[in-house]
Amino acid sequence: MRARIAVLAGDGIGPEVTEEGVRCLTAVATLFQHELELCPLAFGGAAIDSEGEPLPATTLQGVRSADAVLLGAIGGPQWSGSDARLRPEAGLLRLRRELGTFANLRPVRVHPQLLDASTLKAEVISGVDLVFVRELTGGIYFGEKHRDSASARDECSYSAAEIERIVRVAGQLARSRRRRLASIDKSNVLETSRLWREVTQRVMEREFAEVRLEHLLVDAAAMHLIRRPRDFDVLVTENMFGDILTDEASMLAGSLGLLPSASLGEGRRGIYEPIHGSAPDIAGRGIANPYGSILSAALLMRHSLGLEAEAAVLEQAVADALTAGARTADLVRPGEPACSTREAGQAVLSRLRPPE
Ligand code: NAD
Repeated sequence: MRARIAVLAGDGIGPEVTEEGVRCLTAVATLFQHELELCPLAFGGAAIDSEGEPLPATTLQGVRSADAVLLGAIGGPQWSGSDARLRPEAGLLRLRRELGTFANLRPVRVHPQLLDASTLKAEVISGVDLVFVRELTGGIYFGEKHRDSASARDECSYSAAEIERIVRVAGQLARSRRRRLASIDKSNVLETSRLWREVTQRVMEREFAEVRLEHLLVDAAAMHLIRRPRDFDVLVTENMFGDILTDEASMLAGSLGLLPSASLGEGRRGIYEPIHGSAPDIAGRGIANPYGSILSAALLMRHSLGLEAEAAVLEQAVADALTAGARTADLVRPGEPACSTREAGQAVLSRLRPPE
């Protein structure tokens, strides 16, 4: 097949990890004789510096004509002052909204070889296999904002239709997995959460009766996630709760650098990115973990290109690289040698095998 992939590497470690994601994506495509056209486009802080805005018109145009977007990360202290007029994050939020990618899937699987890389006990995290479905284009991040020197306000709103469509994505996913869904809200305090709970209950009862539904308050969910993570299958939640809880969930897997994500809308085009940020504290040193980006490339093949076998080959190569001990600095114990971003990418490339 032929496909066009927009590559938005962004800032900080974004370009470093995306380079490995692209190398692995290209190698798998070659292995299966697909033709990928890769289109690098300016985005984030780098685009503010070069073109005066975080999501330039040329980038948006390029993204719209692509089959999928592979994204790195954006942001950094140079664009984050409290009086900053243009912020990289504004470009990311606009990109998600423009492409209508309302469903953010964040799988968290604990690799057996990495049980010791987590700060949590091995017996608690062994066998964890869950997926967060985070609502991505609504809620407080997209509400009206106001700030003056004496006060500030961020509005949070959700419509029943926005909740219904994300719950359907989560319901379908749960149906294809272990048929359990946890819906997370703060319905003891927030009106948006009360609507969330009511709509979720209704959609699940009517359309996914075979899926076991539990409702959790977000504070309790934060606790249960590290107390009994194996009990979870699919979790669905609103934008900000999902943002926070998935960083917590990344610690189950061992590092923020391991987790991929897929942001999907109504069509096939999606945005694929590791869940971490631009990590300015380690940028430019060649030590960032690229597995989140490489696994995002696998999700891109599965969800936007419909290439399941190819995605599985790439995921298996990552698992094999980890099993062989190819660990970046965030995954080793203090004092142990670590591999570089490039070496980790190479470890995956050298283990790509076509299925028998
Ligand atoms: P971060 O995710 O960039 O980093 C948090 C910590 O995790 C840091 O110590 C970092 O070194 C480490 N880390 C992250 N990714 C890693 C990787 N691949 N390998 C090894 N270690 C890794 O979060 P932050 O420091 O709070 O934010 C930095 C910037 O990133 C901010 O400007 C923020 O707005 C932006 N950000 C962007 C995105 C995105 O692009 N989607 C997401 C979150 C934060």
